[in-house]
Amino acid sequence: MPYDRERTVAFRAVQAAADLCQSVRADLGDDVLEKDDRTPVTVADFGSQALICQALQEAFPDDPVIGEEDSAALRTDAPADVRDQLLAEVRAHHPEASAETVFDWIDHGTASAYSDRFWTVDPIDGTKGFVRGDQYAIALALIVDGTLEVGALCCPHLPNRLDADPPESRGQAFLAVRGEGAVQKPLADDAAPTPIHTSNTTDPSQSRFTESFVSSHSSHDLAAQTGERLGITADPVRIDSQAKYAMVARGEAEIYLRLPRPGTDYTERIWDHAAGALIVEAAGGTVTDMHGEPLDFTHGRLLKANTGVVATNGPVHDDVIDALAAAEAA
Ligand code: AMP
Ligand code: MG
Repeated sequence: MPYDRERTVAFRAVQAAADLCQSVRADLGDDVLEKDDRTPVTVADFGSQALICQALQEAFPDDPVIGEEDSAALRTDAPADVRDQLLAEVRAHHPEASAETVFDWIDHGTASAYSDRFWTVDPIDGTKGFVRGDQYAIALALIVDGTLEVGALCCPHLPNRLDADPPESRGQAFLAVRGEGAVQKPLADDAAPTPIHTSNTTDPSQSRFTESFVSSHSSHDLAAQTGERLGITADPVRIDSQAKYAMVARGEAEIYLRLPRPGTDYTERIWDHAAGALIVEAAGGTVTDMHGEPLDFTHGRLLKANTGVVATNGPVHDDVIDALAAAEAA
């Protein structure tokens, strides 16, 4: 099996990180967080990156890791209770850890330059969803010679089917290896992962689309105009994080649109897309930027050569890109 160790280490690491995030979240109950208390997000975010980077450093010490976080602010500005909580959460997994080792694990993920082989990690993708008690994800991918090879994604609040399953079924982990398909398994047990596939819908008008919950992350207007051109009447499913890629990968949506808002020139971060994009591709789908160009992971932290992202089940991809171009030109 290609990338046998990589897939095993990555899948285990994101699930441990999800466990840590859920442990932090459990202390909050189902409540939305107090307005300004960022403590739980901070603890979960840094704790997740620490666990994932520790696992990568141990298994693949020579691989650079491009992560979202670094420990600088933690070391200097974080209140003592944030540091104490972080250490307690990490020690549930590594009882021997000290604050200094945790900071060092986090900083193992501070590479920024492109290299022939590297990992990218988003320790909590969709922090706003985490805060709200909605969707969030932990995402990890291996990129070799600019190509996505392994992707692991955990969605601790995603049920087996978003529109049907009870909240008790929440928590799914996804894994993909290029050329080997994509699988899903519940976070809660050790059941064997099961293959997932994108939907085989070929009629764009019957497509369901998903987009950011947060309107500042993606133009809901341009998406709606594109949907209209495609004849789509169903409302979009708005959720946070790379759970959107999971929805496309397992056939619950045909289209994920991420479109910069007019007048902004936001450049997408690689860790927001690497794992999810491979999971969609391995499940049978297609991922490009909004102009139909392949995502280019050879520019360090940013998708510098791309604008926006479009992920689809595959068959409707060209129609979506055409409709988007027409909507943009109108
Ligand atoms: P989502 O949960 O899909 O709305 O996306 C969450 C991610 O959006 C975060 O991890 C940020 O890296 C990213 N982000 C932040 N600002 C923007 C922006 N202006 N446009 C697009 N993505 C953004
Ligand atoms: Mg993110």
